Amino acid sequence: MTTNVTCSSNAQAIAWATQRLAVSSDSPKLDAEVLLLHVLDKPRSYLFTWPEAELSAQQQERFKHLIGKRSEGIPVAHLVGEREFWSLPFYVNNSTLIPRPDTETLVEQALGLALPTEAKVLDLGTGTGAIALSLASEMPKWQVWAVDYSEEAVALAKKNQQRLAVANATILQSDWFSNVPNHAFDLIVSNPPYIEEDDVHLSQGDVRFEPLSALVAPEHGYADIRHIALAAVDYLASGGYLMVEHGFEQGAGVQEIFAQMGYGNILTIKDMAGCDRVTLAQKLQ
Ligand code: GLN
Repeated sequence: MTTNVTCSSNAQAIAWATQRLAVSSDSPKLDAEVLLLHVLDKPRSYLFTWPEAELSAQQQERFKHLIGKRSEGIPVAHLVGEREFWSLPFYVNNSTLIPRPDTETLVEQALGLALPTEAKVLDLGTGTGAIALSLASEMPKWQVWAVDYSEEAVALAKKNQQRLAVANATILQSDWFSNVPNHAFDLIVSNPPYIEEDDVHLSQGDVRFEPLSALVAPEHGYADIRHIALAAVDYLASGGYLMVEHGFEQGAGVQEIFAQMGYGNILTIKDMAGCDRVTLAQKLQ
């Protein structure tokens, strides 16, 4: 990379990087813009307002370094250290999943339920804390518990809680329900691992840099959902809701699991792309 000239202005830097990332990324221009704004520490509007603004030699080097990493496949969220979810900024690292827009479907549905004003809510496998902290910040009167098996994830979620100044959430290390206080929850949510071990999707894109423990589950991806549904019966208030994210082909399978365990009012909801993504059910008695 002896191409100092090609990256001397914002517009040139974006054009160069977009071309460089064309083979390795599905969104080369967006990636280039996000990475350049990270280097420049500027808001998005800056690139459109100042396309001809010059980059310093140091900024060019830093940008080229990031573009090199991105072309090796490293997720943009890992390179900039954060990702927006539910319009909130979350720190991310390689110990958890990177929050995805699909999961906002779950948050939206949870907020639409007719829950008590001071609802008790539990998020299993919280990762960055994206679901739990989004719910807690929208509903300051809810009491939200969030757990993760991974100590690194718990540390990250706590860091996010501090950054977002969310007071009504408690984050704990727990192997699913193992350390969960039995509170008769009004809502239990989870985005558990649900991908099949041999899914080709695992060898493509950002998932290659995310922990398999957060992605893959035995029994064709259903093992953790089954475990959660079974154990949740003892932790839900009567009339409480269980809501899980799942794969786009797992709606019917998850419905069957919930039905077998005696849940009622079972409903599958589609994500923004029109794919089955979240199934919810109610503990009847
Ligand atoms: N939806 C994610 C993906 O397909 C997986 C999330 C999960 O396993 N919980 O990459």
